[in-house]
Amino acid sequence: MERIDVGILGATGTVGQQFLRLLTNHPWFKPAWLAASERSEGRLYREAATWRLSTVPPPETERLRVDSCTPGRGPRLVFSALDAGVAQEIEPAFAAAGHIVVSNTRSFRMDPAVPLLIPEVNPDHLELITRQRGERGWTGAIVTNPNCSTVVIALALAPLRPFGLKSVLVTTLQAVSGAGYPGVPSLDILGNVIPAIGGEEEKIESEPQKILGALSNGAVLPHPVVISAHTTRVPVVDGHTAMISMTLETQPTAGDVRHALESFRGRPQELFLPSAPPAPVVYHESPDRPQPRFDAERDGGMTVTVGRLRPCRLMGLKMVALGHNTVRGAAGAAILNAELMHKEGWLD
Ligand code: NAP
Repeated sequence: MERIDVGILGATGTVGQQFLRLLTNHPWFKPAWLAASERSEGRLYREAATWRLSTVPPPETERLRVDSCTPGRGPRLVFSALDAGVAQEIEPAFAAAGHIVVSNTRSFRMDPAVPLLIPEVNPDHLELITRQRGERGWTGAIVTNPNCSTVVIALALAPLRPFGLKSVLVTTLQAVSGAGYPGVPSLDILGNVIPAIGGEEEKIESEPQKILGALSNGAVLPHPVVISAHTTRVPVVDGHTAMISMTLETQPTAGDVRHALESFRGRPQELFLPSAPPAPVVYHESPDRPQPRFDAERDGGMTVTVGRLRPCRLMGLKMVALGHNTVRGAAGAAILNAELMHKEGWLD
């Protein structure tokens, strides 16, 4: 099969580099157009961006020049890793010009006509594209993936929907790569924990209801689960950890819950999508796992690892979940979204 040309908006940033890395050897998509701010426009990618991933820079960095984020210049399918402030204007302009924007930014996640997608959890929400096009007259579309902590939490909670998710108390321990580059100053984070991340708690408390909600007559009915979040930044490079306590309406045993987590599969696994991990949630037996250093990269960073499932004296059950924030929490999530869209005909 001939690979489909794709573009990357915000290609020079932390998430943009993950997009470029993951797309370089992708079997369906080929990075053909890279765009960023006026600061980078016209420069060879390797001159505009310092490669900050631990892998060797792909050949595209030597070959491709960075363009400006101007609609109509790049391929129909573009991934967006733009700074949220500018995505607010740039992404709709691309959708109006006929581009399919598979976005990683927060700007349109809670828009009622925009899918906030985890392909294993709510693949049917792609139908919102029809409403989006009808309401806005776009020939393109915007599809988003969740916040980097939300995706870990929502994937760990989705298998438990049959038990009746009632309330969740979650504390995150978030890696520094989640703050982009240069991110948090070293003297602030080394040997330290910062007990606040601007805007993050609101996203974790609202996005899962949309993701876990049911689609009915072209609208998402939010799931009634109530979530309270504490967020912290910790001196970890990659991998967001979430300490989750929860109350379920039924009272399943820890064994029932573990079985639900381990047997959970979704459309990406059924369809054998290229970026789909064999199982989206893996349960780790050891009492001292998951840990970012050992578990964030599991299955190329696309798996959420859960462990320490045990009774909670306040809420019923508690567990620890971990995922890779720039892969499953960003570029990998968006690429999986695009793979599902391709397989289900939304890119035609
Ligand atoms: P970043 O490293 O700061 O990169 C931002 C990108 O946006 C750069 O390519 C930059 O281009 C471009 N840009 C900035 N201003 C622009 C403008 N006026 N016009 C066009 N392009 C412009 O940020 P990041 O960490 O990769 O995050 C990107 C997005 O993903 C953000 O919305 C963030 O919230 C979200 N996100 C990040 C993570 C994570 O773990 N890091 C996870 C989930 C979601 P120049 O290089 O030319 O300035």
